[in-house]
This record gives sequence, C-alpha cells and structure tokens, in this order.
Amino acid sequence: MDIKSLDNEYVAHTYARFPVAFVKGEGSHLTDDTGKEYIDLGTGIAVNTFGISDPIWQKAVSDQLGKLQHASNLYYTGPCAELAEMLCSRTGMKKVFFSNSGAEANECAIKAARLYSYEKYGDGRSTVVTLKNSFHGRTLATLSATGQDVFHTKFGPFPEGFVYADPTDAEDVIRLVKENNACAVMMELVQGEGGVYPLEEDYVRTISDFVKESDVLLIIDEVQTGNGRTGSLYAFEQYGIQPDIVSTAKGLAGGLPLGATMLGEKLADTYKPGTHGSTFGGNPIASAGAVSILSRIDDALLADVRAKSEYIFSELTGAKGVVGVSGLGLMIGIQTEKSAKDVIAGCMERGVVVLSAKEKVRLLPALNIPMEDLKKAIGILKEVIAE
Ligand SMILES: *Cc1c(COP(=O)(O)O)cnc(C)c1O
Repeated sequence: MDIKSLDNEYVAHTYARFPVAFVKGEGSHLTDDTGKEYIDLGTGIAVNTFGISDPIWQKAVSDQLGKLQHASNLYYTGPCAELAEMLCSRTGMKKVFFSNSGAEANECAIKAARLYSYEKYGDGRSTVVTLKNSFHGRTLATLSATGQDVFHTKFGPFPEGFVYADPTDAEDVIRLVKENNACAVMMELVQGEGGVYPLEEDYVRTISDFVKESDVLLIIDEVQTGNGRTGSLYAFEQYGIQPDIVSTAKGLAGGLPLGATMLGEKLADTYKPGTHGSTFGGNPIASAGAVSILSRIDDALLADVRAKSEYIFSELTGAKGVVGVSGLGLMIGIQTEKSAKDVIAGCMERGVVVLSAKEKVRLLPALNIPMEDLKKAIGILKEVIAE
C-alpha cells in the first residue's frame, strides 16, 4: 500500500502535506514509512502532550477502552465527571462543557456569552470583540471570530457579530466594546497560528479590568496555550486574570479529540438542558486520556517546562541566522533570515520535525521531551538556520 498515492487520490486536498508518512513513534521520536527516524518538536501541533505512545497515558486509555467506549450524554459516565472536577478545582472555573475540538470549544464559548447576555440584557448585545491576527477555528462562526481577512473569503455569508481590535492597544478593544454594545471580548494570550505573539500583560489586565466593570465577558482561547504548554496549567494564570470562559482542546487528552469550555461563576447556570450539546463530547476514552494527562501536569513538570523554554530561548537568541525568538513556555516562534519553509525542509531532511506559524518557525515539543533529545534537535535546528 502506497500511503501517499492513496491519500492524494482519495483524501480531500485541504492540506498541503509534507512528503512524509509517519507510521509510529515513542516519546519524542517518530518513524516514517521508510524507517527513517525523527526527533519531534511539533507534537502534531501541540497535541501529543507527553509524546507518542506514552505508557502511562496508553494504559489509562486502553483500560477505559476495555470497559466502555461511549454511552452518549443521555447518561452519566465516570471519566468526564472526574475530568470536569479536575479542571474546575485547578482553574477556579465552575462548570465544563465537553466537545471534540478547539473550534467546537470556541463555538460553545461564543454561544454561552451570547446566551448570558441575551437572558440578562435582551436582544442587540451579541457582538464579540476579537483581536486582529487571531485564530479561533474553521467552523463558520469561528472563522468569523478569527481576526484575519484571508479567512473571510469564499465561504460567505459568515455569521455576524464579530469585530476585530488591535492586539497591542487596549483602548481600541474598549472603544469597540462600547461602540458595538458587545457581550464579550475573546483572545488568545499567545497568538499561535498568527506567529507566536504573546500579548502584553498590561494590555490584558487593562481589558480584564474594563470588562469586569461593564459585565462584558472575557473569553480566553487556550486551545493551543492550555494544558501546561506555556509553563502554567493555563496561560491566563501568568497574566493574573480570572476569565469568565476558557476554551481548550489540542493537548488536553494527549492525542485524542477532546474540547473543553470552562465556564466561570457568572455562567455556571447559563446553559440549561437542551441549550447546547454534542454526541461525542466528553467521550469516556478521550476523557480518561485527559484525566491521565492533567494528573501529571504538576508543579515539578511545569518548572521543567519553563527550564526547557529558557534553554531554547538562550540557545537561539542571537544565534547565526536567527532574527528573533518569541513565545511562552514550550510554545516558541523563531524569526529566521532563511524562510521558515527552507528551515523546516532542512530539519526534516536531517531528522527533526519543526512547524511553522505564518513566517516563523514554530516549536511545540512534548512537555516531557528528554533533555538529550532537545539538545540534539536544537543543535541541528541551529545548524540548519545558520547554513
Ligand atoms: C488550533 C486552534 C483552534 C482550532 O482547533 P481545532 O481543534 O482545529 O478545531 C482554535 N483556537 C486556537 C488558538 C488554536 O490554536
């Protein structure tokens, strides 16, 4: 079976794939269909939190697989209840809605904000202010929420009620909230797909203070930044804010599809039976995977994430061919003199998987990547960037 030709023939051409077919892996090592090995600094875009076929995660998932794979949300199941309790007790949030992806987690966040506002203030207070250069997903509403014009073509009409503010000017956000009688402000704290740009702390605090006074909800999209990625369980902790809604997905279940929308005090009773739902959301297997992942993201692991982040920053900052390094924790963007495309190709050739984000090279290694793998991969990356 030739994977590449079958895929090219039958899978919809929505992706420009690299000419590589991965077949297996272990930890931070990947193997392709020719037997070539790679060190993985991409984790399938921040999904494989503890690397590939991690034994602890694998056991948690396969134990659940042997018991009950699905029951539907008509009934109670253990793993999703346990996961919801873990998420709330560790974030200060009050309720969780489970779905299957980042876009769905954001849909749920937007719907919750509009429902809250509708019930309290009636019609006409439905606009969500999002940020320019953001990315919130590929459904029609989350494309609309995405503050990049390139995503707003060809699929129209798009859902209304999104306006885009300057990600460096808090006054612009405040002005748009007032002008549009907005119900919520939604942002990523590190704009991931937009090029790994962390927002300034002052900016975020100013907006957080303003929205609190105005009963406008603060939605933080932690689909990519969440679950230990930035060196805290959720990035909002490092900004000293308490959001009303937090969405997450990617790394939550360590490689299985799971989205979560966490709802704070104000929204604890907004959703009532019948107002929102998902067939697969909170699936027992994905939830069991997530319980295992979250239970391992403790202070020691997070300190290690921050130490590895410092190592990468210090190795790359000022290195030959590097223009700049940005990011938080193990979510890192590298502006290089060479094009990101050439750096990625050079690294792939030499057995290191790295990603791009807009014009930058992006690193999203496993949170537990062994130091010797990280050193070797960064060494190769530096050589490729310098060539
Ligand atoms: C990846 C991503 C999404 C979309 O997640 P999907 O699981 O692909 O739907 C939304 N927001 C952010 C910040 C993301 O990084």
